[in-house]
Amino acid sequence: MSEILDLTIPELVARVHLGQLSAEEVARASLARIEATRSLGAFLHVARTATIEAARSIDERRARGEQLGPLAGVPIAIKDALCTRDAPTTAGSRILTRDPDAPLEAAGPWQPPYDATVIERLRAADALLVGKANMDEFAMGSSNENSAFFIARNPWDPTRIPGGSSGGSAVAVASGATLAALGSDTGGSIRQPAGLCGIVGVKPSYGRVSRYGLLAYASSLDQVGPMAQDVRGAARVLEVIAGADERDSTCTTAPVGAYERACERGVRGLRLGVPRQYFEAGLDPELAEATRGAIAALGKLGCEVLEVDMPHTKYGVSTYYLLATAEASSNLSRFDGVRFGLRRDGERADIHAMYRATRGRGFGAEVKRRIMLGTYALSAGYYDAYYAKAQRVRTLIAKDFQQAFAKVDMLAAPITPMPAFRLGEKLSDPLSMYLADVYTLPANLAGVPGLTVPVGTTAARADRPALPIGLQLMAAPNAEETLFAAAAAWEAARPGPRLRPPPLAAQG
Ligand code: GLN
Repeated sequence: MSEILDLTIPELVARVHLGQLSAEEVARASLARIEATRSLGAFLHVARTATIEAARSIDERRARGEQLGPLAGVPIAIKDALCTRDAPTTAGSRILTRDPDAPLEAAGPWQPPYDATVIERLRAADALLVGKANMDEFAMGSSNENSAFFIARNPWDPTRIPGGSSGGSAVAVASGATLAALGSDTGGSIRQPAGLCGIVGVKPSYGRVSRYGLLAYASSLDQVGPMAQDVRGAARVLEVIAGADERDSTCTTAPVGAYERACERGVRGLRLGVPRQYFEAGLDPELAEATRGAIAALGKLGCEVLEVDMPHTKYGVSTYYLLATAEASSNLSRFDGVRFGLRRDGERADIHAMYRATRGRGFGAEVKRRIMLGTYALSAGYYDAYYAKAQRVRTLIAKDFQQAFAKVDMLAAPITPMPAFRLGEKLSDPLSMYLADVYTLPANLAGVPGLTVPVGTTAARADRPALPIGLQLMAAPNAEETLFAAAAAWEAARPGPRLRPPPLAAQG
């Protein structure tokens, strides 16, 4: 069974198209693997019946001679921040359940009446939406430990975090339960868990993919994007989900690139910038070495490698955590006990007491912290000092990118300062968790696309097994094709086979 899940997306789709493999066999293999890796906590909801039914209908349509879509039979995990009309959607939050004390399935999780645009497009491409992936509550976090339901574990070492906020999506792909996943990336939530779990993750340019049906965290930064076991797989998924949407006015009408074809282009003649500020103090030496090694390998493949300056990088963390929390404080005001999910009556029979009781019970500690931070940054007395100033610094950070892209076609950098840390290690210290986002936040602030490709592992030590290391590539807005060309070239020239986590010990 499991060889099915070892196929690449193009290989698997070709077999389903030819009838050499049925979508139902793929569905069953994926559901069995989800079951076998349950202890990793990747899924909040597994869509068993719907997946088998969808697979059977794909097989029937093929038998009738119909042409199948570009993702026919591909099992995909969906971050639970995306609305699905046939499966519950909670964004990892108790406020989108009716009973805050019951286990998730029995808690009356919110059921959206519609599909997000990206979900419609995946269904139309004949993908199998096998389940909803675990995540940090409302996508706030870098470790998946802020899920209101349960933690997720890194398949390379289950005592460590998989990254976040799209942690469940990364675990689903890295553990081989699905071939791809959708995540959302507001400040690194696709690229960082992909890097820490040893898979490919793409944050598209702002506006490249529709946000219609994505539960908003920070609307000027959020983007939906693919995670996959290899670069071509991610390219194919992005090609399916990208493109204009009249239901999202921030979605660009620029034509969607030929991402999969770009994977054949190679890197000859491309100029690759190495931003000095991404390699300064704080970066783990083993990660620095692996990143520099991958950059040198891209140089050997034909890139011209140049050093560039991005002097405002150091302001990224403070700028992001002011703007993202300000936007979140506004976006999350809709969860008030009136329209969705949880409702708790207050001690007094007035609406403010009801709001307080509902939001007090329904939101977790990190979400409350951010609503308070964001509300403060937007308050009359502090707006200029914090929110308005952060907007101006955002412009300076975007200018760093514009100036860099006048000289180079793409930038190469680490994803995180350290490999996957231990569960619980940073939970009581939010500031150190925020600081670890230093390399991923600038791309969101500037709206540029970023891609993570695995480039190796750390050496196994007495206290720690080998852990994946990812390389981050960034390009100018709507230049995703360049990222796919470079990442695919690296992947094709990579020494050794695809990175895979060790088999899970003691699965019961
Ligand atoms: N880790 C960052 C945060 O906590 C980014 C999260 C994201 O991209 N959704 O806000």
